[in-house]
Amino acid sequence: MLSVPQMDVPVYAEVDVVVAGGGPAGVGAALAAARNGASVLLIEQRGYLGGMATVSLVPAYCPFTDEVKPVIRGIGLEILLEMKSRMEPAFQEEWKDNLDWVPIDAEHLKRLLDEKMAEAGVQLLYHTFVSRTLQTDGKVEAVLIQNKSGTQAVKGKIYIDCTSDADIVHAAGGVLTQGGDEGELQPGTMCFQLGNLDRLKFAEHTADIGLDLKHAIRRGIASGELRVVRDWAGISWHNNNTAGFNFGHIFGIDGSKAEDLTRGAVEGRALVHHIVDWLQRTVPGFEQAVLMATGEQIGIRESRRIVGDYVVTAEDFLNCVSFPDDIARNAYFIDIHMAKPTSDMTMVHLPPGQSHGIPYRALLPVGIENVITAGRAISTDRATQGSTRVMPNCFAMGEAAGTAAAMLTKEGKSASREINVYDLQRQLVSQGAWLGEQWEEKNLYLID
Ligand SMILES: Cc1cc2nc3c(=O)[nH]c(=O)nc-3n(C[C@H](O)[C@H](O)[C@H](O)COP(=O)(O)OP(=O)(O)OC[C@H]3O[C@@H](n4cnc5c(N)ncnc54)[C@H](O)[C@@H]3O)c2cc1C
Repeated sequence: MLSVPQMDVPVYAEVDVVVAGGGPAGVGAALAAARNGASVLLIEQRGYLGGMATVSLVPAYCPFTDEVKPVIRGIGLEILLEMKSRMEPAFQEEWKDNLDWVPIDAEHLKRLLDEKMAEAGVQLLYHTFVSRTLQTDGKVEAVLIQNKSGTQAVKGKIYIDCTSDADIVHAAGGVLTQGGDEGELQPGTMCFQLGNLDRLKFAEHTADIGLDLKHAIRRGIASGELRVVRDWAGISWHNNNTAGFNFGHIFGIDGSKAEDLTRGAVEGRALVHHIVDWLQRTVPGFEQAVLMATGEQIGIRESRRIVGDYVVTAEDFLNCVSFPDDIARNAYFIDIHMAKPTSDMTMVHLPPGQSHGIPYRALLPVGIENVITAGRAISTDRATQGSTRVMPNCFAMGEAAGTAAAMLTKEGKSASREINVYDLQRQLVSQGAWLGEQWEEKNLYLID
């Protein structure tokens, strides 16, 4: 161990709401806070927003619907629709009536999110890592940031932790948990994009190879030619020549450790090259495939979770529980990828039209007064995290956190628990969010 000398640092900014992390949760949080009148600084370690969709090229948005109606509305749906509207006409035609599994164009998304932040008046700070917190008695007074300009401080009234690894809560000494009983974690995936594909030729052969390559992958695994464990590839077509792939796993990666991320990068790229070589040799229409990009970072499905005022459980998920302080609904299935090559996927679906609530309390780390967490790291058990973690949900949680933060600071408050939850819910609904049938029935007079 080395001790670091005390240092004086300049204050880079002082705002109402500091948002750390610009994934879907951070985007929802920053836009909602700014649109509700707060001064907002959004700090992101990359040079763009979007989170896993752009950093790791996760190729599609999970469903925004419960197969009957949209459950994720508000800012998330706005981003989805505007991203679609920037795609090629043929793409727009193919996806015009669909809100589920829409392929993501990372470059359109980056540009769209830059523009959205400018429109809303969010102050952006890219290429900056939030590394430490300064706090007294459970209240964060400032975060320390690192970037090319050195070490500086940022002061806010409320901090929204959207780092997906709960970095602020971790730095502030909050209570965290991670993975399963034996510390097992879902594997990471190095997603990638291929060009020069022939989709029409591919489509002629899907009966033999499988639309998700299932039959071809099984043959490849059995013959020893393909080194993957799951007989599935997520393929998201941007047009007839280009597609994004979520294919293959790298095991034992803890996304909150730099050395694991490093191994994930090296092993992930090696696996992608192996897979692309196999695709070129095996899959009709992929013979001339060109590897256009791999993720800047291996995609991380699971790392730290906060322990919050409420822990959402699998029982809540299965019973479609509604909470008095619901701020969003989740209809996505429990989707836990195998922690080891020898274990199985765990998937548990809710019936169509069903969802459960995500309570505001699950966003509040115990023992910390002015930090709200949104996105992958909220307070759930492991099974439920396998469901709440997907991007549409993260947008909705972020929107709720940002709205709450702005409402509080407008009233001169900085304690997250002082929010009037009913006022927050009404504000969210007025912004287009959906809080479930029960909430609608109780508040019919508010619904258009
Ligand atoms: C391989 C894979 C496939 C997936 N498939 C799908 C899918 O098909 N559809 C779907 O909807 N979801 C999918 N998911 C889940 C989903 O992508 C993530 O769970 C979701 O993006 C989490 O959102 P978030 O906003 O919490 O965090 P993230 O998207 O992880 O964004 C966090 C952001 O914070 C930044 N950051 C982190 N720490 C700091 C720090 N200390 N300082 C500054 N910035 C920081 C990061 O650079 C990043 O931009 C998948 C995930 C993976 C890994």
